[in-house]
Amino acid sequence: MKRRDFVATAAAATAVSGANGKLAIQGGEPVRRKPFPSWPVQDASEEKALVDVLRSGKWGRLGGKAVEEFERRYAEMLGARHVLATANGTSALITSIHALGIGPGDEVIVPPYTFVATINVVLLNHALPVFVDTDIETFQMDAGNVEAQISERTAALVPVHMAGGAADLDRILAIGERRKIPVIEDACQAHLGEWRGKKLGTLGTAGCFSFQASKNLNSGEGGAVVCSSDDLLERCYTFHNNGRGRRNTGADFRYRSGGANLRLTEFQAALLLSQMKRVEEQSRRREENARYLTSLLRQIPGIQPVRNYDGCTRSAWHLFMLRYDARAFSGVKRELFLRALAAEGVRASGGYRPLNKEPFISETVTGKAYRRIYPAKLLDQWEERNRCPANDALCEQAVWLTQTMLLGPREDMAQIAEAVAKVQRLAGELAKV
Ligand SMILES: *Cc1c(COP(=O)(O)O)cnc(C)c1O
Repeated sequence: MKRRDFVATAAAATAVSGANGKLAIQGGEPVRRKPFPSWPVQDASEEKALVDVLRSGKWGRLGGKAVEEFERRYAEMLGARHVLATANGTSALITSIHALGIGPGDEVIVPPYTFVATINVVLLNHALPVFVDTDIETFQMDAGNVEAQISERTAALVPVHMAGGAADLDRILAIGERRKIPVIEDACQAHLGEWRGKKLGTLGTAGCFSFQASKNLNSGEGGAVVCSSDDLLERCYTFHNNGRGRRNTGADFRYRSGGANLRLTEFQAALLLSQMKRVEEQSRRREENARYLTSLLRQIPGIQPVRNYDGCTRSAWHLFMLRYDARAFSGVKRELFLRALAAEGVRASGGYRPLNKEPFISETVTGKAYRRIYPAKLLDQWEERNRCPANDALCEQAVWLTQTMLLGPREDMAQIAEAVAKVQRLAGELAKV
């Protein structure tokens, strides 16, 4: 995108909105009134898929066909050897952690910039989360800081492919291999994302996906574990099926391990099979729009769109993330910027708060159960060891647009950029109130 084009589109957007010298939050005309595309997308094919399951009378995976078919088709889509469907992304992570035997006394390397489930599953197993600071430009776990956080207790590395971009897998997988530590990819936001041409979630020891309502592939709730080891797949299956193997009759009727019921239903699988038909096209559209939006936003002072690593050959763009620098906006605080932007018709959020500083986490790891498992010295140093200054700064600067905003026409991107540019131009006025 050339500067000339940008000026032209921006001018066009301004002309369309009739935006004058006044911000919408101060009574001016908003840049945009139209809503962004709604989510989820569905039509008669979802209806048929659901009714078919309803009429079959086989509503759960034991006895049904849809879950197994989904597992086969999703594996094909990812180029993965095995997929096990689970009730949701959180249970995909719980299943992998159990199947890999991670528990009390172990440490698990996690990023502080993620959805809380990544940490909750570690705590549920009474393992100790150890945070690796964030690479502020990419919003991903800083691979250069992983090594320093590894100890003899480290039982897993859990990189999160934040927003569907990729964590630096070259370096993280190499560390895992050298140290013989399994890597669990949290790919819950990363459907169809890629690292050097291979699908995210297929490169580590295990990969976990979510099909929760907001995700790029969704069935309301749902999840999956991806892996290449036959043995790991069987352990995952058994765990997610209350310790029972694939057939629950005859000689197979015995408990192989403990477990839980974390099965996906046939309804969800049928919905996913139908939704999957759209996922490639939707994903391509997000990529195209994200590329264009990046080129527009880069030209606005104080706005720094997310950078993806060279190895990230495809992002899922579950979120469009950028950093906001108040200094280029007359010192206007991010929260006020977000309100002004919303008034212009572009709703964005400030994203995550730093999880390593979340009181419930430090209370848990310094509480009674952890005191019985870990040496006092280790727990007393936990807070100090887990400082993440880059992530703290990032959490103050981040701005997120949701994936659905990338699903519309190209003009939507020009309007998003124009709304941001308008607030930047008139930030001086905003700073006065
Ligand atoms: C959504 C999400 C999860 C949890 O998935 P659920 O299906 O909501 O349980 C875990 N990790 C990340 C990074 C997520 O975005």
